[in-house]
Amino acid sequence: MVAVIADRAISGLGTSEEEWLPWLAAHPGTPVDADALVPVGHRAVVVAPHPDDEVLAVGGLLAQLARLPRAMLLVAVTDGTASHPGSTVWPAERLASERPRESRSAWDSLALPTGREFEARRLGFQDGRLQSLRAELASALTHLLRPTDVVFTTWRQDGHPDHEATGEACATATAGCGARLIEVPVWAWHWAEPGDERLPWQRASRLALDAASLRMKRVAVDAFTSQLAADPSTGAGPILRSTTVQRAHRPFEIFFS
Ligand SMILES: [Zn+2]
Repeated sequence: MVAVIADRAISGLGTSEEEWLPWLAAHPGTPVDADALVPVGHRAVVVAPHPDDEVLAVGGLLAQLARLPRAMLLVAVTDGTASHPGSTVWPAERLASERPRESRSAWDSLALPTGREFEARRLGFQDGRLQSLRAELASALTHLLRPTDVVFTTWRQDGHPDHEATGEACATATAGCGARLIEVPVWAWHWAEPGDERLPWQRASRLALDAASLRMKRVAVDAFTSQLAADPSTGAGPILRSTTVQRAHRPFEIFFS
């Protein structure tokens, strides 16, 4: 669902990759690799406000971590049922079953591990309402986290109210238990401009995606079919528009740590 926060409004096609890529080439940030981001003996936890954010934010990282002996916990805060308001094609009940299914299909494309090393949780919070549920979300996350976790989530200033609330709740929960927090811009790439002073570039690190992990991430993004098609019942365009998909196709991921 497109939402507005003050000066970080998500509307239109947003800033294109033609604009971002030259600037990001000149300002690459600190290089990191998956092995250093999530060291041996630590668990990678990804907290996604909506099913698809885990792939848009860190799909390439997950594909790389899947090759390493690392435990993973994927947390879906909501089931993403507010993405198509007023739609008869995508009523909330259909989204509640379809969007988590899309995520599972995407995880298969990323070759995520199965068995004891992999855990997924759906918290069932109400999509679109997370700003008012931050304390409850922080409490729920606190019960799931361990001090040695490395937690990836959406940046606290990402522009989407649910993304910002999830970032804030993760900050509270990780500060409480001692886990490491790494924030990831998702919608910020849409409303921000190259060199935008509202983004904390001094905290930026960059994970290069090798050909295999990039290919897997691109296939994983295609799993979110509910978000990729126009809705004839409301006349709304895709939630993930062409520019958003292009940003998810970059051969790198940027984190704020
Ligand atoms: Zn989202």
